[in-house]
Amino acid sequence: MIIDHDIHLHTHLSRCGKDDATVQNYVNQASRFGLKLLGFTDHLWDDSYTGSESIYEGANTAVPFYRGQNVPHVLSLRQEIAAVEHPGIRILLGAEVEYDPWRHDLAITEANAEQFDYLIFPNSHTHMVMPKSYYEDKRKHIDFMMMAFMDIMKSPLRKYLVTMAHPFCAVACPYGYEEMLGIITDDEYRRCYDACADNGIAVEINLSKFRKYSVGQILESNNLRQFRIAKECGCQFTFGSDSHTMWHQEDFHNFYVVAGAIDLTAEDLSPFVRS
Ligand SMILES: [Zn+2]
Ligand SMILES: [Zn+2]
Repeated sequence: MIIDHDIHLHTHLSRCGKDDATVQNYVNQASRFGLKLLGFTDHLWDDSYTGSESIYEGANTAVPFYRGQNVPHVLSLRQEIAAVEHPGIRILLGAEVEYDPWRHDLAITEANAEQFDYLIFPNSHTHMVMPKSYYEDKRKHIDFMMMAFMDIMKSPLRKYLVTMAHPFCAVACPYGYEEMLGIITDDEYRRCYDACADNGIAVEINLSKFRKYSVGQILESNNLRQFRIAKECGCQFTFGSDSHTMWHQEDFHNFYVVAGAIDLTAEDLSPFVRS
């Protein structure tokens, strides 16, 4: 199987993105990794709706990190894309839209969701949207991610969702996310991935969770169990490097190790990313 897409890319428009994360730089190095489809997904919280409990300095954005990372900001990448020649490479403009735990839904309106080529949603940005006290009890932390996952599966906005971004890999978790992946039961994963399969939503294999890993470390990763269960449930997959700098794509070949370890074939890829 050839993996010729990367549909989880951040640019300099994301607060955590580096200056070198430009459309031009990603296009320039696409052939090194055999890429024919690039999908940009900068961080987004749509500040055009109200209703979230925690409002930051007059903006409707509930989480300070997202201030200014709104729909017009993320859509402004269209001009940058239009200015770059990209023969043989398809480019899509998406967004990584935050989960809003106060509304139990995604932080975007339907009208604005329509403006993007696709969306990806994370259930695991717990460092931003979960009460800090939940860190003390890993079960509580897992239950929060389960709630987010199921809220996303019930949301009317799920029709815009192509793939679940880095599922259950809690970002910036003080004790490391892999430990929690070991605690989540097979049944819990099945409940989530049955819902994904029913809704035609793919599961993302995220390179940031395998960056700098040796082959041995990949084969031992707790992450593989959830992917195997997702496959058994009938889910399809997408690959995303979650790059925040052009250098984050460097270990792209590690995707082939993951795909081999869980016996993925071209039929296991989401139709969205098939060329
Ligand atoms: Zn993310
Ligand atoms: Zn991301």
